[in-house]
Amino acid sequence: MIRINDLSKSFGKLTVLNGLSFDVMKGEKLALIGPSGSGKTTILRILMTLENISGGRIEVCGEPLFHMHRNGQDVPADEAHLHKMRRHIGMVFQHFNLFPHKTVLQNITLAPTLTKGEKRIDAEKRARELLDMVGLADKADYMPVQLSGGQKQRVAIARALALSPEIMLFDEVTSALDPELVEEVLQVMQRLAVETDMTMLLVTHEMGFAREFADRVLFFDQGRIVEAGPPEQIFQAPQEERTRTFLRKII
Ligand code: ADP
Repeated sequence: MIRINDLSKSFGKLTVLNGLSFDVMKGEKLALIGPSGSGKTTILRILMTLENISGGRIEVCGEPLFHMHRNGQDVPADEAHLHKMRRHIGMVFQHFNLFPHKTVLQNITLAPTLTKGEKRIDAEKRARELLDMVGLADKADYMPVQLSGGQKQRVAIARALALSPEIMLFDEVTSALDPELVEEVLQVMQRLAVETDMTMLLVTHEMGFAREFADRVLFFDQGRIVEAGPPEQIFQAPQEERTRTFLRKII
């Protein structure tokens, strides 16, 4: 579903990712863990084409993300190509970024009606199903300001799902929440992981959740994968000293 090959990314003189390669299989639930500043968020932002890349190659759903084929040649992607590729991916951020002057329902229907040309009645039906799924069926006509942080984050998840992406990216979605609101958001994500065959990438500091959620965990440090494996390996029998040191500090 995703193929990252020799990816590098610098911000000015700062090299954040250097020769990074990994693949993500269809339906796989992948957790990216590691110290702050190790490049995890940058990877998700690159996949969402919110950042460009300095080198390497990424394929999403079998097509190059930042390149395209034209007249038998590989050339940099134009805006139309990026727009098409973005359709494959939905992202939920640490800060929910709901539209403050729209109702919950409108927040969810806006993109499908505007960018996909869905009929309003169809978009609303789907939005209500998604709200039901995230446990907020009774909040369709609320304004974001009337919701708790956990509820806003669940609306943000429903909004991303409304575009039916094949891949969902979750970037520290619980780290801005009060501790008592974390669980309700994790439950929604766990349900999605179990009930759908969506490919999901999760950046998190919630190690307990990463362990439950992920098929595979990548431990990053300084823009490189130090260790990758099933959660049982990473959390119970890490092979690398750096992984052990990180987990000792965080758990
Ligand atoms: P993580 O998600 O693992 O905490 P990030 O991907 O957010 O790490 O950041 C990796 C490094 O890149 C950090 O040193 C951060 O300061 C730097 N960085 C991220 N975005 C930018 C940016 N837009 N401009 C300059 N530096 C950035």
